Amino acid sequence: MNVQPLPEVRTTCPYCGVGCGVIATPGADGVQIRGDESHPANYGRLCSKGAALGETLDLDGRLLYPEVRGARCDWDTALSTVADGFARIIREHGRDAVAFYVSGQCLTEDYYIANKFMKGYIGSANIDTNSRLCMASSVAGHKRAFGSDTVPCSYEDLERANLIVLVGSNAAWCHPVLFQRITQAREENPDLKIVVIDPRRTATCAIADLHLPLRPGTDAVLFNGLLSYLARNDYTNHLYVDTCTEGMAQALHAANNSAPSVHSVAQDCELDEEAVEQFFRLFACTEKSITVYSQGINQSSSGTDKVNAIINCHLLTGRIGRPGMGPFSFTGQPNAMGGREVGGMANYLAAHMDIANPEHRDRVQRFWRSPTIADKPGLKAVELFEAIEAGTVKAVWIIATNPVVSLPDADRVRAALAKCELVVVSDCVRHTDTTALAHVLLPALAWGEKDGSVTNSERRISRQRKFLAEPGEAHPDWWALAEVAKRMGYADGFSYASVAEVFSEHARLSGFENNGTRDFNIAGLGDADAAAYENLQPIQWPVPQAGAPGTKRMFSDGRFFTATRKAQFIAITPRAPVYDVDDNFPFVLNSGRMRDHWHTLTRTGKSARLSAHSYEPTAQLNPQDAAQLGVQDGMLVRLHSRWGEMIARAALSADQRCGSVFVPFHWNDQFASQGRVDALVNPVVDPISGQPESKHTPVRIAPYLARWHGFLLSRRQLSLTGASYWARAIGKGFWRYELAGEQSAQDWPAWARELLCAPKTGQEKIEWIEYLDNAAGRYRGARLVNNSLESCIFIAPGYVLPSRTWLMELFAQPALQPSERASLLAGRPMNGTSEAGPVVCACFNVGLNTLIKFIQQDKPASVTAISLALKAGSNCGSCIPELKSLLVRSLVL
Ligand code: SF4
Repeated sequence: MNVQPLPEVRTTCPYCGVGCGVIATPGADGVQIRGDESHPANYGRLCSKGAALGETLDLDGRLLYPEVRGARCDWDTALSTVADGFARIIREHGRDAVAFYVSGQCLTEDYYIANKFMKGYIGSANIDTNSRLCMASSVAGHKRAFGSDTVPCSYEDLERANLIVLVGSNAAWCHPVLFQRITQAREENPDLKIVVIDPRRTATCAIADLHLPLRPGTDAVLFNGLLSYLARNDYTNHLYVDTCTEGMAQALHAANNSAPSVHSVAQDCELDEEAVEQFFRLFACTEKSITVYSQGINQSSSGTDKVNAIINCHLLTGRIGRPGMGPFSFTGQPNAMGGREVGGMANYLAAHMDIANPEHRDRVQRFWRSPTIADKPGLKAVELFEAIEAGTVKAVWIIATNPVVSLPDADRVRAALAKCELVVVSDCVRHTDTTALAHVLLPALAWGEKDGSVTNSERRISRQRKFLAEPGEAHPDWWALAEVAKRMGYADGFSYASVAEVFSEHARLSGFENNGTRDFNIAGLGDADAAAYENLQPIQWPVPQAGAPGTKRMFSDGRFFTATRKAQFIAITPRAPVYDVDDNFPFVLNSGRMRDHWHTLTRTGKSARLSAHSYEPTAQLNPQDAAQLGVQDGMLVRLHSRWGEMIARAALSADQRCGSVFVPFHWNDQFASQGRVDALVNPVVDPISGQPESKHTPVRIAPYLARWHGFLLSRRQLSLTGASYWARAIGKGFWRYELAGEQSAQDWPAWARELLCAPKTGQEKIEWIEYLDNAAGRYRGARLVNNSLESCIFIAPGYVLPSRTWLMELFAQPALQPSERASLLAGRPMNGTSEAGPVVCACFNVGLNTLIKFIQQDKPASVTAISLALKAGSNCGSCIPELKSLLVRSLVL
């Protein structure tokens, strides 16, 4: 590991939009990570992903040197190849024939340079971001209602509310530290009620007073129903509406038409009428109400309308801009907000200015002193890759993202890139599904190596600081962009000496000719020199003057950034998803995150601790649906949509709504043979925001009829052959492979030996312990080196195989005991010792079986009692919702 002897460094977690402060302490034994007690986002807390950051910092698999067409080269060659390629294509086909596709992982400074280069120098707006996939509908909804992309609330409002409505947000897994803050607030405030609105009973429901499992896609009906109910029952804040808003009558008319009564809402949303009434009454009667929403709202072909349906309810009641209330979008990525600030989206300009506004274009161009300025919106993410497929975009520079895994209709994205004339990829990982298609690879810095800033969901700007040396020849993305710009003749605009200079320019642009007309203003940070930038403390924008303390809450004065300075109600007519279920595709596919993984596994897939909780693509199904399909828990299933197919392990749960299936989006071709869910996801987008409908793809599901099933554990990573299905995950000292095949091996022992044998390195004693029943199609083999378990493999005709848990524990032992050798092929200890079972608490490796046994024997009264006895849940707290639900279920059984 490239550890420098540095003191502890305050930085920011690179995963979700909570933006937790992290203290990293590099040392001889690696980097110690802990939460930053002084950071206002987390006050010292970290979730399982943040706590495991130190396990993801090694250089295995890193891209460390530039490459052109697969051959290592120097930076100058690589940069000139990019500059010459872009310049030639612009010359021959025009400026709109090139594009950048960037990421919410980029730091604000990277984003700023990319946006300035594309819009002010190339003169196209063809720069879009993977943040389009997570929060573009929130941006569009904010713009329509407020005239600006402004998040009104602060995290501390969660602690000051008396009602928190979480809609389309599994905060327990996707924003865990905010979930912990809500949980604590609930413990401290008996008046605080929690409502969760989600088709699935997610982990977030562990703290819900009320869960509304609505029919997928009907959120706008529910919130129109709430608006209508509030007006009907005289909960309108007339003074606020009259003074601060416009358009209420039209919005109410649309709401009354589409959701005229509690009864009609309950019917349309397939909810219990009393539960709907209870939710409406709670909202109506609770002044301090916050509505948190996230990807479940945004990722829809009517996502923008859903956002405005929520905002309408807050405008009608005047519950915005005051403590403990407001509509609150939780962003997915660590710097989705920073990208919005610099205009890193195809339809916006820098500093929250509009590409469609000639005054804004003129202002930005004058500030940049740039030769040109894009004068029309560029291509949004899905359109961009369609244009690559059509051949109208001929060169693309992809930075810090993996669109072949994460974009909808992902096989088409792969095919489009395969025929693109010039694909440049900046990444810190050498082998991804996207780098496989690159003509030029540029080595980027990873977390801990790069320096810059990010903005979290509450508008708080924090520094990401470096604490590791730059490995190999990796460089910051902003530097690579600036170097290419210089080679294209734009040295005047891109001669920065440091990242601090980039930030300063970005801050000064936000205040340039602002005069209070634009929400995003951090001019107060614009004069920060290198030392001040280095010491920049977390602060919420706007910060209009130097020394200003930052701004907790927006719109406290009832004035907005629309032309009339009044907030706009938007009349919403709910629309069904573009593609709905039918006889051919009868299930709604909903894609999302698992608790301990992040995006496409390039980082969390390195951590054994994080991989223990979910190690394979799964398809969560309701048991009733599964019974009709002939699917049992643990069986492999194949999912088909109109766009693609995949294989996943069925996980049956009554938490899943009938007719729906949930599949995580993390798996890629490096970790599973057919696990990319986005190959199935439909590419339909919201017409306003351009955000894809990732929560609603019609699919069909059938058992995957493999001839054999198996698993193997090996100390070495293997090149698999002969399995038509595989998924791999790292464990503590081993790799785990789940396997299945459509063709049986002619000779299982020979196949296993070829797969698992490694060249002898010395005098080591190699032993094989094997069992074969050819007629039954069963084979079990273990390879021991000097009496230590090196690898083992289990093959059977069915999917029910021995538990892996006990076998995995054997890899921690330097030598096997005689009893362990004897029971090796059984996959469990002979003496009846119980095994821990699948991991629930990743921090202390506490398994499901251990927990169930403890709960049933000791009858603990609370999760705290479990934590005291077994430590589970006592560190990062990410497993607490699962412990709660286990406690309830095990005691009921
Ligand atoms: Fe990182 Fe977890 Fe905090 Fe998100 S909640 S920023 S993943 S530590």
